[in-house]
Amino acid sequence: MNASNSEHRSTIIIGAGAAGLTAAIYAARANLKPLVIRGPKPGGQLVTTSNVENYPGFINGILGPELMRCFEGQAARFETELRQGTITAVDFSQRPFHLILDREKSLLADTVIIATGATPRYLGLENERRLLGRGVSSCATCDGFFFQEEEVAVVGGGDAALENALFLTRFANHVYVIHRRARLRASKIMQQLAFNQSKLSFIWNTRVKDILGDDELEGLLLEEVKTSKTSILPVKGLFVAIGHQPNTEIFKEWLEMDEEGYIFTQPDSTYTSVAGVFACGDAQDRVYRQAVTAAGSGCMAAIDAERWLQSHHRTAVSLVQEITVRFSY
Ligand code: NDP
Repeated sequence: MNASNSEHRSTIIIGAGAAGLTAAIYAARANLKPLVIRGPKPGGQLVTTSNVENYPGFINGILGPELMRCFEGQAARFETELRQGTITAVDFSQRPFHLILDREKSLLADTVIIATGATPRYLGLENERRLLGRGVSSCATCDGFFFQEEEVAVVGGGDAALENALFLTRFANHVYVIHRRARLRASKIMQQLAFNQSKLSFIWNTRVKDILGDDELEGLLLEEVKTSKTSILPVKGLFVAIGHQPNTEIFKEWLEMDEEGYIFTQPDSTYTSVAGVFACGDAQDRVYRQAVTAAGSGCMAAIDAERWLQSHHRTAVSLVQEITVRFSY
């Protein structure tokens, strides 16, 4: 990578979800004048969520996109620059770190905060990709409206699956939740809501073996896990809610991460395996993955970056003083 003529910043934050924007608010207030690269999906996963009931401070909940507008407005109020684009490559081998924006523009940064979040996982079936947007979706709040009075299915057994399923009952005639086990991973309150919803039923111990339809989804080929017995479920929509994949591919060469791609951070901090690079939010959190924990770790990353810069600066200053003293003899 050629770093000549690069724009040089103290702190670059990659990602503009709950983690990245909170990091921006704190970094800006610490006078770091952060540059936030918004990425392909600004706002992160909350933009595809309906009512967020568990983010503290909102008695009646708040719509996900609205919450993210507030985050962004607050970050912009201080000296944060938000820039559209995607970081397509990085070089963390030396400082300042080198980042490439949209495959062409070169950026340098003294510290980098990674807040790239995670992307919904898919089942990996061939027809799933082909029928994406034609019956197959990972976002009920985005696409649920198109399934008025239809029968639809959701695959998964976590909070996201039940949240999607409950949301879909507003439009669909009936919603099937297909789960590979007989026990849900979702929180008890979500389970209660789902079990009490008459338009929703569960298909247990079952996996989606194939997705049927030429131009649009017509049904699902299901397989009972224990007996391998197959059946066809005629539905017009399939919502896949089986977890997420951290968006960390471009950092693989540089940072230590687990087998699923979650970036390792040191205990009780956001320090990664490279000094000066910090990670927060769903890119490094495989346990909690909540908006509020993402925001919390974004705050930690900004504080860690500020302190790291300070100590680094101090080291540089004391080095200069030491050299000056040595040469004055
Ligand atoms: P989870 O990892 O919690 O659940 C994923 C579900 O998908 C599991 O039931 C899992 O099955 C199933 N699954 C995984 N892979 C496959 C596969 N290949 N085929 C079929 N099923 C599969 O992910 P979520 O996205 O639901 O939630 C992530 C986090 O976000 C959680 O911490 C959750 O609490 C939180 N969240 C909170 C919400 C809220 O509070 N309103 C809303 C949405 C998410 P198995 O159980 O057998 O492993």
